[in-house]
Amino acid sequence: MKLLKPNKFVNHFSELTAEFLLANKFTLLVCDIDNTLVAHDEKLPSLEAKKYIDSLLQKQIKVVFMSNNYEERVKTFSEVFNLPYIAFAKKPLKKSYKKLLEKYPNENIICLGDQIMTDVIGGNRMHFYTVKTKPLFEKDLFSTKINRKIEKLLQKYWEE
Ligand SMILES: [Mg+2]
Repeated sequence: MKLLKPNKFVNHFSELTAEFLLANKFTLLVCDIDNTLVAHDEKLPSLEAKKYIDSLLQKQIKVVFMSNNYEERVKTFSEVFNLPYIAFAKKPLKKSYKKLLEKYPNENIICLGDQIMTDVIGGNRMHFYTVKTKPLFEKDLFSTKINRKIEKLLQKYWEE
């Protein structure tokens, strides 16, 4: 059960502020895209998402986008910021996180995502600090719907 539980819950990405990251000495944010920053069919960052990522970069916090979505989607989104990304990440498998660690061996990493089954478990398996945000939109893929049901059950379990 420990693997399933994020270190922190937020209702919206903007709650995970640069100030929080700095105060807790996090230097690199591994950030999911779909339903975390924008809807999964939204090609480009919203103004709000853009402002948020820029607010982190301004404070010298590094950001890497990590998504299970396909190359073109993740690339198009990340290029707006000229930031590195990992597409087809296959979260929660460790492979992509290990690749990230090879490139950034000395960072204190924090992970942000909307799904327990991918973002949270993946980060937890690597012993990174994990933050779960409420998904921006509920309309989603079938597999995601199943994950959400499981998440709701877990949430109840943790609250009891
Ligand atoms: Mg997502």
